[in-house]
Amino acid sequence: MTNDKTVVSIQNLNYFFGEGELQKQVLSDINLEVKAKEFVILTGPSGSGKSTLLSLIGCLRSVHQGSLKILGQQLNGATREQLVQMRRNFGYITQSSNLLDFLTVQQNIQMSLELQPDFSPKEARAKTVAILEAVGLAEKLNAYPGNLSGGQKQRVAIASALVTRPKLVLADEPTASLDKTAGRNVVALMHRLAKEQSSAVLIVTHDNRILDLADRIVNVEDGKLGLAFNQELSLVLPGFDEALLEKATTKPIVLTYESEQAIVRQGERADKFYILLEGEVEIIQELPDEPHRVINHLNRGDYFGEVGLLRDGKRTATVRVARNSEVKVMVIDEELFRLFLGNSELTKADIVRRLHQRVMTSHLSNALPNVNPSEILAVAAQAKVIRYGANSIIVQEGEVAEKFYLILEGELEALMSDRDDEFTSCKLKPGEYFGNAQLVNGENYPFTVRAGLTEVEVMVIDRESFCSLILKSNTNQAIVASVLRHRLMNS
Ligand code: ADP
Ligand code: MG
Repeated sequence: MTNDKTVVSIQNLNYFFGEGELQKQVLSDINLEVKAKEFVILTGPSGSGKSTLLSLIGCLRSVHQGSLKILGQQLNGATREQLVQMRRNFGYITQSSNLLDFLTVQQNIQMSLELQPDFSPKEARAKTVAILEAVGLAEKLNAYPGNLSGGQKQRVAIASALVTRPKLVLADEPTASLDKTAGRNVVALMHRLAKEQSSAVLIVTHDNRILDLADRIVNVEDGKLGLAFNQELSLVLPGFDEALLEKATTKPIVLTYESEQAIVRQGERADKFYILLEGEVEIIQELPDEPHRVINHLNRGDYFGEVGLLRDGKRTATVRVARNSEVKVMVIDEELFRLFLGNSELTKADIVRRLHQRVMTSHLSNALPNVNPSEILAVAAQAKVIRYGANSIIVQEGEVAEKFYLILEGELEALMSDRDDEFTSCKLKPGEYFGNAQLVNGENYPFTVRAGLTEVEVMVIDRESFCSLILKSNTNQAIVASVLRHRLMNS
């Protein structure tokens, strides 16, 4: 909907570079609105078309196809004169400040004012002093740009873009030449001044550390506006209500990790949940005295971190960026994660199902270290998770072995009678398993296993899947021998 609060309104905009055979479309079907006072961040990979879009909005290029209205005026078909006229409503900030080296700071800023229709030299001086105070550079009034630091130059550029109180500020990677702290300070300053003057801001940046300042984040991917974070989130975790989506995505925390960098580490305290927006990660199990093992790969649209949050509060695996990948994740804190679980049955079911699979995968690959991870994943995906009440019998001594059992949660007790009808017993904990040797050898269970004093959760795999898993591996002696019987006989 377009109303008088709308500063930028774009519909079905296309843009091309080159002509004929060499013509290349760089913007496709762009639809975007920016309202007064809004602080919008435009992100996206290099070459995706952000600068081209910004320069069209800034009236530095002519529109080819579609509708682009600024402050209600249609720019498709506008004359050069009209474009120049329109530019007076903007403040424009570029990557490296476009200050003129032979003019003082004051003269540079005053130049923006001289282009305004109601220019008065006296007022211009007062406005220049005021804006320089606002950006913390009052003492640099008579300095030349050559004597300023990179951060100071960008602050002068901001002062000169904002001194005219423009309706719209356009900034193309204004922090690119600055270090982290200076970059964030510059954008925070721009944010504060724009809000005070009710200017709308459209800023292009790669810098994920400033995304939290945005009222809205728009992704540009390959010339198209990509999904907004709320859309990304509802694709990954369906079923949330609008209010929660809004809460989760208005100021998302998005972090970037480089090739082979660890995002979470096994054994660390778990306090965050991660949604993978871009790139590939590996799930790695670190084992004492053994080489690390990659047990799974995750891609865009997947999530991780729920196992630690929902189990014992510790990371059960390391998550690391795959080689030659760069990863972007949305980070959800524990409190918000709990809200997710409470908000949508669909999401809760999905997360719990995946949690089971992952816990099973990690226990199974521990139990069967020689089995190929992809076989383990396939079996874990089909395995059943069964909960047994306190004290209930899971397998009975003398029964034909039908299944392989692996304990996911809770404590079990195994009992075996010897020749004199005396019982020996031992406890079984998560990660331990039984039924393996009996399944492989076609024997009856030589023991009884029952749940302990609380409810337990057990993963169950049928004979066929288990035996095929064993067949496909370099059979591992431990799996053919009865670990549990051995333990009971020695206890
Ligand atoms: P971004 O700012 O997101 O890095 P740009 O808008 O600068 O992307 O560029 C988008 C695409 O258009 C790129 O593929 C780039 O090579 C191409 N491009 C940019 N300017 C020109 C030009 N003047 N002539 C031809 N192609 C261009
Ligand atoms: Mg660019």
